[in-house]
Amino acid sequence: MTVPTPAPTPPLAGGRHGADALRPLLDTALTALATGAKERGGPLPAGGPDATAARVAAALGDVLPAHGTGDDEALRTLVHTLTAGAADPADPLCAAHLHCPPLAVAAVADLAASVLNPSLDSWDQAPAASAIEAHLTRTLAAELYATPRADALLTTGGTEANQLALLLARERHGPHLTVLHGANAHHSVPRAAWLLGLPPARALPTPNGTLDPATLAEALAHTPGPVLVTATAGTTDAGLIDPLTPLADLCDRHGADLHIDAAYGGTLALSPRHRHLLDGLTRARSLTLDLHKLGWQPVAAGLLAVRDTADLAPLAHQADYLNATDDTDAGLPDLLGRSLRTTRRPDAFKIAVTLRSLGRDGLARLIDLTCAAAHRLADLLDAHPGFELHARPTLTTVLFRPTPTDDDRLATLRRTLLQDGTAVLGRATADGRLWLKATLLNPHTTARDLDTLVALLEGRTHR
Ligand SMILES: *Cc1c(COP(=O)(O)O)cnc(C)c1O
Repeated sequence: MTVPTPAPTPPLAGGRHGADALRPLLDTALTALATGAKERGGPLPAGGPDATAARVAAALGDVLPAHGTGDDEALRTLVHTLTAGAADPADPLCAAHLHCPPLAVAAVADLAASVLNPSLDSWDQAPAASAIEAHLTRTLAAELYATPRADALLTTGGTEANQLALLLARERHGPHLTVLHGANAHHSVPRAAWLLGLPPARALPTPNGTLDPATLAEALAHTPGPVLVTATAGTTDAGLIDPLTPLADLCDRHGADLHIDAAYGGTLALSPRHRHLLDGLTRARSLTLDLHKLGWQPVAAGLLAVRDTADLAPLAHQADYLNATDDTDAGLPDLLGRSLRTTRRPDAFKIAVTLRSLGRDGLARLIDLTCAAAHRLADLLDAHPGFELHARPTLTTVLFRPTPTDDDRLATLRRTLLQDGTAVLGRATADGRLWLKATLLNPHTTARDLDTLVALLEGRTHR
């Protein structure tokens, strides 16, 4: 009787032989990334959700087959399918959301992090990773605040950073804290108030897209008890920046705390040409920043920065298996107070690699190139009789409409482009009307790419 030979135990990514196992698989994955992109041919798959789902179903077959196909086949098939059906932000015509094309160097750094799988909940799972995170967060916090006690935490993004900001404010002021924010604020702000059991956050009207100091003054005058004001530096819909200094002055006058959600605009602080747009940023007690937007990182790369590290004290937490008091006393770093999560990816690593590779001037250049592309697109649309530009861009968002059109036709046009797989544009309401939204985050976008986008829209709208 023959005994079937068991399949070999699949190799691990790490260890002394990890690299030998990774090399051929990486080659397979890289080839499939290329064949998948070629099959797609544009910024996203043609045919819409049903066609994509059908192609995925056909490629996938049985997700959990009785017998495996092996590493090489599984990677080849699924990486190809993933890529062929991707909305690829590296395509200049993929410009709907704050969905950035990651830098190659950051993606490879993230792969190295995945190989070693450090978890940032205890030092003995992440000795160097935790030390790198400590350096990185200190450096970024000091870059933003230029004060010796500034500190920062890595988060999964702006949503978690805003949640933490509201949590820390609640811990300072108690459960009757009123959160005031502009109607232009990110939806995660009122949602965080709901999550934290705070009174419903109050949205102040922002008819011009930013929070008017007079509106806030009026609200503060009529709000008894402790208040947290959330301002936005880079609105998600229009890339607008609230008037930070006057808002901070008002908060000072009324004894209100100020949090600034700079998830989108915050990295402009690294550009000598553009940082003036953020004047007043450091008046905030806490700041949200997303490096998976204008920071070109793979998701996730969020940050909550605070002016004073003492503000983070409420996050201190003890679990014997991770930070026993005697371990901490003996000098093992205590990491649990750096997040509400337990197991946590080393997202600081890819950021640290990126900062070292690019340096200040390299990062500033990416920011400036991207802002320039947005201005160029605005110029093109403004000069074109077939389009109406909503406003000159502040950051890298351009809102516009073909003329003539109406909201229904505009929404249909956006979906047609998605269906064709030719362009990914977003939508936003401003001044009571619907606009197409181009969120430019790709520093490689050329003048020709923008001409192509305008010509595509012309062909689709003026026939
Ligand atoms: C993107 C964004 C967020 C949410 O960030 P995530 O990283 O998606 O969680 C919060 N605030 C603003 C202003 C944003 O643009």
